[in-house]
Amino acid sequence: MTEQATTNHHSPEVTVDVLIVGAGFSGLCIAIKLQQAGTESFLVIEKGDDIGGTWHENRYPGCACDVPSHLYCFSFEPNPDWNRMYAGQAEIWEYLKSCAKRYGVLPHIRLKTRLREATWDEAKGVWHVLAGEGLTIDARVLVSGMGALHVPSYPELPGLARFAGPSFHSATWNPDVKLEGKSVAVIGTGASAIQFVPQIAPRTGKLYVFQRTPAWIVPKPDFSISEKWRQRFRRIPVVMWAFRKFLFWQHEFRVLAFLGHRWMGRFLERIALKNLEKRIKDPKLRAALTPNYALGCKRVLFSNDFYSALTRPNAELVSEGIAEVREHSIVTKDGVERPVDVLIYGTGFRVTEPMIAVRLVGRGGVEIHDAWRERMSAFLGVTVSGFPNFFILLGPNTGLGHNSVVLMIEAQVRYVMSCLKLMRRRGQKVMNLRPETQKRFVDEVVERLSHTVWQTGGCRSWYQDQKTGENTTLWPGSVVAYMRRTRSAAARDYE
Ligand code: NAP
Repeated sequence: MTEQATTNHHSPEVTVDVLIVGAGFSGLCIAIKLQQAGTESFLVIEKGDDIGGTWHENRYPGCACDVPSHLYCFSFEPNPDWNRMYAGQAEIWEYLKSCAKRYGVLPHIRLKTRLREATWDEAKGVWHVLAGEGLTIDARVLVSGMGALHVPSYPELPGLARFAGPSFHSATWNPDVKLEGKSVAVIGTGASAIQFVPQIAPRTGKLYVFQRTPAWIVPKPDFSISEKWRQRFRRIPVVMWAFRKFLFWQHEFRVLAFLGHRWMGRFLERIALKNLEKRIKDPKLRAALTPNYALGCKRVLFSNDFYSALTRPNAELVSEGIAEVREHSIVTKDGVERPVDVLIYGTGFRVTEPMIAVRLVGRGGVEIHDAWRERMSAFLGVTVSGFPNFFILLGPNTGLGHNSVVLMIEAQVRYVMSCLKLMRRRGQKVMNLRPETQKRFVDEVVERLSHTVWQTGGCRSWYQDQKTGENTTLWPGSVVAYMRRTRSAAARDYE
């Protein structure tokens, strides 16, 4: 457990002004900003046994960020000491822990406390919250910092329950399972799998990588940052600031590939195909790894070692669909049976089903899952009509495919802080989004999405709602445009 991650809020009944759910990048960011604004009455509840969110949970070998470290950190807490261009899990986790400590928010965090239910009490203007084991919290303001990538998704494959060997998901990696000399099957070739496959390949006796859809993979310009440069960043902060700005614009420019500017997409596709040609000489394997949809439709992946891992003599890419899983093997649709000792799921997360296992009841007893029956939506991804004083960080349609999501978190936190200020200024205790504001925003998002590669690129992805096929996860624009929209809350948008 993190040193000093104790809390002042040990009682089973707590009343606070602001309750934050989750102690990852989002939850910590708003906790820090509240602390800086002089708000003492806030509590962060975190289901895990330590802070860090996704960077605490995901500990698979090779786990790292695919956004450069100097951009994947808080703007108010730049870190001159990043060891690599793309930091690994341990370094990012340490960074988050040091931020929480430095800004004094650790005493406000209650670990191992899972949100179970939150109900809006109209008469009192508070959220009644049930959390952990018998904890009740009354909070005027409820902020979700739960993120989207934390409920593992498992494939539904015939016979899966019969598998007799050890099995685990990339997000719940089991380091006690020895892979040395074993026949290991990995299902999935997404962002997580392409990071751990090269790490485990040399250890396994035989490695089968089951691919359903090939990804677009571009080289990752990763290297260690020399002590000389780290000193420079430390001594001359403006150099670090300029480097971050450079990275920001370099990434921001890429949004064009996603928003329907095909020349940009084709340019990146050429880079990816050159990378594939250079690393995979076998034409059959190369064909199996060549995507047949537009770049950007699914998340673009960055790797320098995934392709070479597949060319190892003990590795095999299996692109035939899985027909059945047996006690000690996997059978593909062509009838081939491969012996398997250990099964690893690199099958991602349940992203488009938000607030799984959480009951959130707003005005008039309406449950959020009912409010979102047609489409998961929130104004600017943050506020939902009928759910007063409730704010979502990294909510619907605010994910990114081209830049650092920490930038979006900071923009949203700024927006939430401006909502709280607006309430204070007007002497109001409650603010509820006007339904027409939400509708106008959703209509705009849907219209803009229709021109993007996510809708027109010819693929299915976790960006899309599994039932409707609509993209409910990504922001259809630039980060700059989002920052502009979220600069401050307008009273006219709220009742
Ligand atoms: P993912 O990108 O959703 O990939 C899941 C993989 O599993 C895909 O290849 C998918 O194939 C496959 N799959 C899913 N269900 C399957 C089934 N029933 N049968 C066969 N294959 C199946 O998941 P992830 O790799 O865990 O990454 C999730 C997200 O986490 C990323 O997109 C990214 O946003 C984030 N992440 C970020 C980093 C980082 O460096 N910042 C690192 C890791 C993860 P299909 O493509 O056919 O669906």
